[in-house]
Amino acid sequence: IPSLEVSGLAYAYPDGTQALFGVDLSIGRGERVALLGPNGAGKTTLVMHLNGILTAGHGSVHVAGLAVRADTMKEIRRRVGLVFQDPDDQLFMPTVREDVAFGPANLGMRGAELDRRVRDALERVGMLDAIDRPPHHLSFGQRRRVAVATVLAMEPEILVLDEPSSNLDPAARRELAEILKNLDVTVLMVTHDLPYALELCERSLILSGGVIAADGPTPALLSDR
Ligand code: ADP
Ligand code: ADP
Repeated sequence: IPSLEVSGLAYAYPDGTQALFGVDLSIGRGERVALLGPNGAGKTTLVMHLNGILTAGHGSVHVAGLAVRADTMKEIRRRVGLVFQDPDDQLFMPTVREDVAFGPANLGMRGAELDRRVRDALERVGMLDAIDRPPHHLSFGQRRRVAVATVLAMEPEILVLDEPSSNLDPAARRELAEILKNLDVTVLMVTHDLPYALELCERSLILSGGVIAADGPTPALLSDR
């Protein structure tokens, strides 16, 4: 059963702009896949369908077999971990600990179990030392790693990252790449950073004009461009 299955997904915005024209894709558990494509291709629109920010006009999205629908939204939001491009859209609590605890606490987790979740998530992104610090005292690269931890703490089925390498210096870029490679989770990353896609994702999808124009091994796809 795939982590993510999108079938015949079409979507038009209220003003009539057709952004997606029948997208089909399937991502198996544990795969790391890059979503590439020019501005306006529909990448953001597609990602917004994965956790129900937008709901399918036509077609369907399933996450580990569960359809994204109004009545499944709570579980879907747990299964689909969205990491925004700007970590400051994701971090709003006085300390790193509270930011990472926010999601699981919302699910009702408390005490030692919650503490373990928070520590595990921070450990996985190499930020456990910062647990008691205010996020705004951290570097941008560190804040992005904490943003990833807030999502990992939900133990998602799939981690979806919007431009994970943007605004990182070379050292922070390398650190994040190592972290993402070692996570034992399905990953879909939207990126314009072809070297990053090549390094991290064995497979890439190219979205163009609201359709999947190519789907295959990243080196083969990039050598065609
Ligand atoms: P990204 O950099 O993620 O590809 P874009 O630059 O395409 O994002 O879009 C940035 C924001 O502007 C998004 O929230 C998108 O929904 C919105 N947007 C893009 N095109 C339009 C449009 N034609 N009308 C209204 N909003 C738009
Ligand atoms: P990408 O993320 O690949 O840049 P988007 O999903 O942001 O692409 O946009 C796909 C298409 O939908 C573009 O034509 C864009 O202008 C349009 N679009 C995006 N957001 C809106 C919106 N809120 N209202 C109307 N059109 C939009």
